[in-house]
Amino acid sequence: MTDARPTCRHCLKCVVSKPRGLCWACHRNMSVRELYAVAPHCVHGPGAGSGSGTPPVRPCPHPQGSPGRLDTMSRRAVAGESLWHPGDCREITADVDGRAGHYAA
Ligand SMILES: [Zn+2]
Repeated sequence: MTDARPTCRHCLKCVVSKPRGLCWACHRNMSVRELYAVAPHCVHGPGAGSGSGTPPVRPCPHPQGSPGRLDTMSRRAVAGESLWHPGDCREITADVDGRAGHYAA
């Protein structure tokens, strides 16, 4: 019985276990990793990745992970804009939807 799992694009011996079609050992080697582009399926969602789409007109004032931020990113994706703006709020807030204190004693 043959092993149907794909083999590493670089060493052609080990089973692929990392992005770019590389095995763990080859992926760990930066000079090898740079030889292989990231496979398209590793880029998630519309507008994902830097440089895709047109830049958003306005920065998002909502903290990362907030419903407002998700709404902004959804609208940017639908509009074909880049998901990121250099002026986006960089705060990370966990309590915007009332979950603050969830883990508190
Ligand atoms: Zn390899």
